Amino acid sequence: MKKFILCLIAFTMAIPACFADELFLDKETKYQKQIMQMGFKILNANQIEKRMTFYYDTSKEVNAVTALTSKSIHVYKGIIPFMDSDDELAGILSHEISHGIDAHKGLWRRILMTSAPKSYEYQADQRAVDLMVNAGYNPVAMIIILNKISPEQNWFESSSTHPEGSKRLVAVYEYIYTQYPEYLINNKYQNNLYYQNFLLTTQKERKEIREKYTPSVKNVSNKQSK
Ligand SMILES: [Zn+2]
Repeated sequence: MKKFILCLIAFTMAIPACFADELFLDKETKYQKQIMQMGFKILNANQIEKRMTFYYDTSKEVNAVTALTSKSIHVYKGIIPFMDSDDELAGILSHEISHGIDAHKGLWRRILMTSAPKSYEYQADQRAVDLMVNAGYNPVAMIIILNKISPEQNWFESSSTHPEGSKRLVAVYEYIYTQYPEYLINNKYQNNLYYQNFLLTTQKERKEIREKYTPSVKNVSNKQSK
């Protein structure tokens, strides 16, 4: 409603642009614009000097892909219903932009990415966290969107190019835990349904991470005696 009032004010000031933006564009045009604008925002905020293009694709598959030769990023219609925030879309786009950065490193890199895609997935998730933070998005949303779309299958059980869902989630969590802990300490997604489910299903793994990075009493006393 507020937006509508703003539009009226703008209209009376002979600036009808927001009418076109808000009311007359069909859903798919809006998605195209949103994806494109966010993609370019992430590129600019991270000072990425390589060109990439962004497309909304009407495929119903729950996916987003990067075409390695053209460095074009395609967000499929099928993934849209899974997203509840800008942060989550930023997570998807940042992951693909990370693939785009690698795709720019030449033909040999592109061959490696195609022949061993899984090894690039963890790296793409980690780099995506950096890209999100630099562009002003909350990286915890990466865990949330992955929890919704990343199935629990082992690499030897399917032809999927992506690693087992929970391993990816835990790896992203560990990276945020070590690099950007402030987002977990002051966590705006703490009560999010999908984040709560991540906490529930990864208790053992998160305990191991806490122990790995918390110096034991023995280590602390060793340090003090030196
Ligand atoms: Zn990927």
